[in-house]
Amino acid sequence: MSFTLTSQDYVNYLKIVHKKIFENGDYISSLDAATGDGDHWSNMNMGFENLTAAGDELKNMPIDAAFKKIGMIMMSKIGGSSGILYGGAYMAASKVISGKNSINSQDLCNVLEAMVNDMIQRGKAEPGMKTMIDSLYPAVMAYKDALKTQTDDRETMLLVKQAAIDGAEATRNMEAVKGRASYQLNKGVGNLDPGAVTMSYQIECLCDYIIDNLISK
Ligand code: ADP
Ligand code: MG
Repeated sequence: MSFTLTSQDYVNYLKIVHKKIFENGDYISSLDAATGDGDHWSNMNMGFENLTAAGDELKNMPIDAAFKKIGMIMMSKIGGSSGILYGGAYMAASKVISGKNSINSQDLCNVLEAMVNDMIQRGKAEPGMKTMIDSLYPAVMAYKDALKTQTDDRETMLLVKQAAIDGAEATRNMEAVKGRASYQLNKGVGNLDPGAVTMSYQIECLCDYIIDNLISK
């Protein structure tokens, strides 16, 4: 039996991520100051602040409509590359769960896959280019593998979370091909990509939320 994730759950999760991003402000800003222009944390924090504020509206929508609205908020409220990439990703995600009021584990995997595919297309990037994709892509691959091998939900979430964390960590040794780090002489080698780190926070919080609240112990 798969878990069921509702819009109310998603709003609860968004609040948890906002807290995590908010609390790591100095750290994320320092990562983007090292390889970019220093605004990644304020961009993301502003986006999640607006999502949290829209929680009452979002929680009463079917999940497909909630994702579309989240995409619109992210597109309009997050500045920089992240706003366009996350905005587009959530809108693409809403299409693959069209007509659904809530989603199960296979739907969630489809959502994350639609997101990463949209990011790859929109940003003209691929895995290995030192971007947020380097955390999301391995998480999606781990999720697909786990579903194929009928791994239980708890183990699946743990594998997805670990793949996202490891993916973000792997950006340290990558040379940036896309984004501002690619303008640096050393292509950002030695530093983590800030977008990959905030992506891993989101996947971590989502997996933990599902384990703690939607999977029976
Ligand atoms: P900006 O680079 O416009 O200042 P942000 O600071 O909000 O935007 O976001 C920077 C992050 O965006 C990078 O750390 C990287 O993860 C991600 N990024 C930048 N360009 C791309 C791209 N073309 N494809 C995917 N991700 C990208
Ligand atoms: Mg920036």
